[in-house]
Amino acid sequence: MKAASIPQRENNWLKTPRIHRDPDPEKILMISQFDGGIGVEWTNSGGSIADDAVNYVTSNKSINIVSTNSVYTHVNKTLAADFSTYTHFRYRFKCDDISKLTGLTFWFGTDSGYNHTYYFAFVPKDEPLAWQEIIISKDAFSVSGSPNWGSIVRTKVRVLANANVTVNILMDEIVAIKTEATRASIIYSFDDGYLSQYTEARRVLDAYKQAGVLFMTNYAYGQSGYITPAQMLALQDAGWEIGSHTAHHLHMTTLTAGQIENEIVANLKYFHSIGIRPSSVMAYPFGENNDTVKNVVKKYFSFARSTQTTFLNQSLPMVNRYMLKCIFLDSSITLAQAKALSDSAVANKGILIFACHQLGAVADGLTWGISDFASLVAYNAALDADAGITFNWLAQKYGGC
Ligand SMILES: [Zn+2]
Repeated sequence: MKAASIPQRENNWLKTPRIHRDPDPEKILMISQFDGGIGVEWTNSGGSIADDAVNYVTSNKSINIVSTNSVYTHVNKTLAADFSTYTHFRYRFKCDDISKLTGLTFWFGTDSGYNHTYYFAFVPKDEPLAWQEIIISKDAFSVSGSPNWGSIVRTKVRVLANANVTVNILMDEIVAIKTEATRASIIYSFDDGYLSQYTEARRVLDAYKQAGVLFMTNYAYGQSGYITPAQMLALQDAGWEIGSHTAHHLHMTTLTAGQIENEIVANLKYFHSIGIRPSSVMAYPFGENNDTVKNVVKKYFSFARSTQTTFLNQSLPMVNRYMLKCIFLDSSITLAQAKALSDSAVANKGILIFACHQLGAVADGLTWGISDFASLVAYNAALDADAGITFNWLAQKYGGC
């Protein structure tokens, strides 16, 4: 599908248009903000829990779940909920040391003893030092017994520490979400401006009237082997979205807020000077981010792509727009695996973001095969999905994300 043209910039071009909106309240069901008090809203079995009125994101508290030395800590909340029309759950939490965590498990039971239950077990390694927001498709939960999403009477969070250590998980919020997506969205993003993104990726996508998203810094310009400003303009004319990758590809988590802002503004000014329209998306250099980085990024962009690879299928409304996940196309992934991810996006009406550095004859740590890329694009073009689109196009289709 051909990407729609990008709206004209506002007079103050540094202020990119805000193309997201708050989620429709009708599509969100609050399950808990963990502020109802221990022993009232949430009760534990095993281990220990404590209210935390200092570290939280929403409302006025979180609950700290403490597990020590391979002993489970459970917290339970009574519900009377019908999730049958909801599609995803979002959890917001923070772990003090991911290396000490054996696992985190979320449960929904149709009986108070969890004989009939849905559960999701994992190690949340994506953002080890920040508040994490993860979105789990209902379909991703495992099933034990004969549970029913239509009548959930209890939910549980379970934390397990490694042997001989203590781990703390702060839980801040759980919500159920109804996706607004009508079909899957598949985005091809390209980092750093390697020349094959212009010569190969564009050729493949052009054949399907599709576009990519190019994340560019300032310093690649003019170097041999990289896309030139003239080629960037040609990509823009072909419907591609040019996203920011900051001016100098620095380690943003080592910078002050002022330095981070300078890196963003210098990149946007460079785009402006060569005729590139501002985009509402950026990609963190090296994927590195923290709350300081995100708070600056939020002033300039509506979306930011990380390099994290778990929970790939973002749902709509996009409730975690500054931690968009992607999967890199390089020697770590086969064509069959990439196609399977596309199939999963179709099943979940998810937003799947592929990322790519180079296309070449032989795959390596930075390169994926040209023929594999051509096969993947052809495969995705035949799916029930909007493939080869941009973030702007996506936001316009859904009136913001
Ligand atoms: Zn990069």
